[in-house]
Amino acid sequence: MAINLSNRARNASPSATLAMAAIAKQMKAQGIDVVDFGLGEPDFETPVHIKDAGITAIREGFTRYTAAGGIDELKQAIITKLKRDNGLSYSPAEVIVSCGSKHSLFNIAEALFESGDEVIVPAPYWVTYTEQIRLVDARPVIVQTREEDGFHLTRAALESAITPKTKAILLNSPCNPTGAMIQPDQLRAIAALAVERDLLVISDEAYESLTYDGHIHTSIASLDEEVRRRTMVVNTVSKAYAMTGWRIGYAAGPAEIIKAMNTIQGQVTSNPTSIAQKAAVAALLGPHDDLRAMVIEFEQRRRYLLGRLNAIPGIRCTNPEGAFYLFPNVSSFYGSVGDGHPVRNSAEMAAYLLQTAHVVSVPGSEFGSDAHLRLSYATSMESIRTGADRIEHALGALRG
Ligand code: PLP
Repeated sequence: MAINLSNRARNASPSATLAMAAIAKQMKAQGIDVVDFGLGEPDFETPVHIKDAGITAIREGFTRYTAAGGIDELKQAIITKLKRDNGLSYSPAEVIVSCGSKHSLFNIAEALFESGDEVIVPAPYWVTYTEQIRLVDARPVIVQTREEDGFHLTRAALESAITPKTKAILLNSPCNPTGAMIQPDQLRAIAALAVERDLLVISDEAYESLTYDGHIHTSIASLDEEVRRRTMVVNTVSKAYAMTGWRIGYAAGPAEIIKAMNTIQGQVTSNPTSIAQKAAVAALLGPHDDLRAMVIEFEQRRRYLLGRLNAIPGIRCTNPEGAFYLFPNVSSFYGSVGDGHPVRNSAEMAAYLLQTAHVVSVPGSEFGSDAHLRLSYATSMESIRTGADRIEHALGALRG
């Protein structure tokens, strides 16, 4: 029988980061010593007290369906967290728990967007945003940030992309892949813009606790009540608590939108895993020593890798304020050849590094910027040293 896939399925792109992770895994299984800069998750263990909460939940039989949008206990923990860390006040009707924040974001897209709607997405962007917007037949409108400006988003850049069809602005600070954070004056200006032009704001704050050099994350929703009322704050336990596999994310925002998301989630997945919800309560309300230690470790790795990359002739890399990625510009090598491999773009550069140096990276083209590669430093210092040596050597071997 001939299978006719839907246009939606045909047009969707698979996740490049997951694809690179699969290749790295395959090479490792073949015994190849791979340095993996492709990872989109902390290389740390979920802290013990969080694991214990999950184990206790299993032992106590907390293993049945829960309310589709999450248990009250977790909603209360999220409300406590949003007040404690972000100065935001929400009621339970303004909060939903989903199967990862990727799922929260998709619920938002399903609840709000349809054919004809435009959603502004700053680039470089996490590719899931544009794919999800397309999946609900809306149109992502890309706004470029500039490397020369440290990839900092400005009100002016967003303003130039607004049309009568614009429904929402998507913000991601700290940003995957650049690590850039929206600067405080611009955050205020963007908040004012959203109010003036009557736009919704979706603020993905997944990397909020991974910031460096004294930079502190501010949620745009906390700037004033007018902005809060039009903002969906999206967050996750995945990154801060090394809980990527537990699949717990959440969103907070206007009750009307949350209610619609609840209805959709109730028909699509039902509740996020019961035992993972209990673990997430322990994560949000428990001690944060592991998180602090992780940030210190990331900071050391970031500084080291940044120094190594910027010391390689031909590479330029901005100093990001947050997340666990570096986004070096490698375009000066395009047009060269190494070991028989032509390097004309970021995909060929990533392939060259993988094949000749056994280093995994993600091509910048996947994030809307072909001049760059994304390197994650969520890997051991030893791997980072080896990887930096290999990149230096491989790039040194390219001939123009
Ligand atoms: N937002 C950003 C910017 C991310 O990079 C990721 C994961 O890589 C997520 C959200 C989704 O995380 P999760 O679905 O695990 O909560």
